[in-house]
Formats: sequence, C-alpha cells, structure tokens
Amino acid sequence: MLTVNAIVATSPTAPLVRGTIERRDLGPRDVLIEIRYAGVCHSDIHTVRGEWRDMPYPLTVGHEIVGTVAEVGGEVTRHATGDRVGVGCMVNSCRECENCRAGQEQYCLRGNTQTYAGVDRDGTVTQGGYSTHIVVDEDFVLRVPGSIPHEAAAPLLCAGITTYSPLAHWNAGPGTRVAVVGLGGLGHMAVKIAAACGASVTVLSQTLNKKDDGHAFGAEDYHATSDPSTFEALANTFDLIINTVSAPIDMGAYLRLLRLDGTLVSVGAPPEPLPVPVFALFGNRRSFAGSGIGGIAETQEMLDFCAGRGIAPEVELIPADAVNEAYERVLRSDVRYRFVIDIDTLR
Ligand code: NAP
Ligand code: ZN
Ligand code: ZN
Repeated sequence: MLTVNAIVATSPTAPLVRGTIERRDLGPRDVLIEIRYAGVCHSDIHTVRGEWRDMPYPLTVGHEIVGTVAEVGGEVTRHATGDRVGVGCMVNSCRECENCRAGQEQYCLRGNTQTYAGVDRDGTVTQGGYSTHIVVDEDFVLRVPGSIPHEAAAPLLCAGITTYSPLAHWNAGPGTRVAVVGLGGLGHMAVKIAAACGASVTVLSQTLNKKDDGHAFGAEDYHATSDPSTFEALANTFDLIINTVSAPIDMGAYLRLLRLDGTLVSVGAPPEPLPVPVFALFGNRRSFAGSGIGGIAETQEMLDFCAGRGIAPEVELIPADAVNEAYERVLRSDVRYRFVIDIDTLR
C-alpha cells in the first residue's frame, strides 16, 4: 500500500480538507501515475455533497486527471515510465459484456468502475484524482498528446469526452445546427468541439455576460435564456441540442427549439428528474436522449482530435487550498471555464 496526500470530503456539508488516502500495490497490469493536474467537474460537487445518492465518506473525488507514469507493472505494454497520461471517469469495466466488447465500457452492463465512489475489484471504495498519485489498470489509462498544454489537458478527460461523444454520435458537422445549453466546463468544450466539427453553433446561456467568449470559442450565435423572446425566435431551429446544465430546466421549452427529427441530449445531471412533456416530442418527431462520458477508444480519439485541431479547455489553475472557494464559484456559474488543481501544491 502507498499512502498519498489527497483532498478529502468527510461529509456532505463539511469543507474539503487535506488528508491522506491509500493506493493499492502495483499489480502486473497496473500503472502508477504521479498526478500533476486534476480538473474540478460539477459531478465532483454533486458527489461530495451527496446530491445523487448517499456517498461513502471519507472520499476523494476528481476524474479529470493528468500526470506522468512513475512506475509500471511487469505485464504493462501500453505505457512506459515518463509518459504523459490521463485518467477519466472510469478505471475498469467487466470487459466481457456486449457493451464492453463494443468498446462502450462506459455502458458496461455490470457497471463500469467509477474513478471515485465506486467499488474496486478488491472491494475497496475507489478514490479520485485530487491526490498526488493513482494506480490504474493500463487499459484505462489514456495517452495525452504533448501538444496539449499539460494543465489544460485535464478537463478533456471528462468535459471533453462527455461532449465529444454525443456530438460524434449525433453527427454534428457541416450543415448541422447545434445549440449548447450552459456555458460552463462541459458547455465551453461542446462549443469548441462542435465548431471544430464544422457545425453551426449557438450558445444558450442564462445571460449575455459570456457572449464574447462564446464567439471566441467558435459559436456563431448567442442568446440569453432569461429572455423569453429567445424561445420564440429560435423555435424549430436546431438539429441537436446538448444540455449541459447541472440544474433542472424546462425541457418542453428547449425541445420546441428542435427542427424535424432533432434530438435534445442531456449530459447535465441534476439530482431531480427532468419532466419531458410528450407533446413537445410529437411536434417535429423530436427525440430526448441522454449520454454518459465515452468509451476508452473514443476518449483517445477525442484527445488526438483536440491535439490535431489545437483545441484545449480554458482553465484557471488553483492551489489545493482554494478548492472550496472554487466549488462556490462553480455553483454561482462563475467559472471561466474549468478550475484545475495544481497537484504540486498537495505534495
Ligand atoms: P458547470 O461548469 O457548473 O456548468 C454548468 C452551466 O450550466 C453553468 O456554467 C451555467 O451556464 C448553467 N447553469 C447552472 N445552473 C443553472 C440553472 N439553474 N439554470 C440554467 N442554467 C444553469 O458544470 P459542468 O462541470 O459543465 O457539468 C454540468 C453537468 O454535467 C453537471 O450536472 C455534471 O454532473 C454533469 N456531467 C455529466 C456527465 C455525463 O457523463 N453525462 C459528465 C460530466 C458532467 P451559463 O452561466 O452559461 O448559463
Ligand atoms: Zn466529470
Ligand atoms: Zn461490461
């Protein structure tokens, strides 16, 4: 066992504190990663605060992880000491079910092993990336291309793949009209990736405060959802809407913005159900869908795509002790556009 420094949640209401966690001994197929940067995803906040379910405290979250390979097990072939690597939202899956065999490990029928608050093969609770080191099976470790700035690479491991996957699945590209609801961590990546795919992108944000940024990320159009005229002006417009909002929103109002055969994909994960009025689906034969992260091969494809296109998240680097304040700012939608913890400040 390796005892390592970490940021720890002790209850749904207490602030995060410095502590230590245990990492398993390196198995033959394991990689020991010295973590350099960890992104702050809104899912970390939902989890720490116990909003989705009861959580196993003490708990270390963080599933946007980049670092350097410090050591590899004897049978590891895909990674070598010194490599720049990443780990996202899952660290294992059954590898045998039809979804795993199809490269869709995120939809493992036996449940993928989540990077934190999951149950590992040895029965222990998994602990995430707000820590100095992690031990992960080599098949769930991604190669991070050197051209992506190191600290900016971390958010790709969740925000990047979670938006890339539905944009690819629903064929965002030249001639398609895509709206992105919410310009936070996921939303700003959705805009950048959809624009790089050649889609015409519109941002639907609560206000116009971030309009210049939205255009700089590649959006052609930008509207405030606090203005009711937005919903009249944009009725029957989009082929695809990616909803990244962490809170419940009026699904009927957004569904009516879809044109014939359009799809609204919710990647935002508010704890409450999102009621869908069926009459908003009947018009234009619309679809309402969800999407969860992405598979390992697709995550590698996304990293290589972003490296090739020069796409990187906008990050604000923070020391470990600023994480509680960063959570408050994310909750106020005051994030530009992803906080990333400098893990060197934890050593
Ligand atoms: P985030 O950075 O906080 O962004 C969410 C954005 O939604 C905010 O910046 C804000 O954008 C908008 N928003 C927030 N509260 C709102 C409200 N009450 N009404 C309308 N708009 C609101 O969060 P994130 O890290 O991108 O994560 C977004 C959601 O995706 C979370 O629920 C997270 O758990 C979930 N998630 C899901 C997956 C998956 O696999 N499906 C993966 C990762 C994260 P504006 O200021 O522009 O309005
Ligand atoms: Zn996440
Ligand atoms: Zn499986």
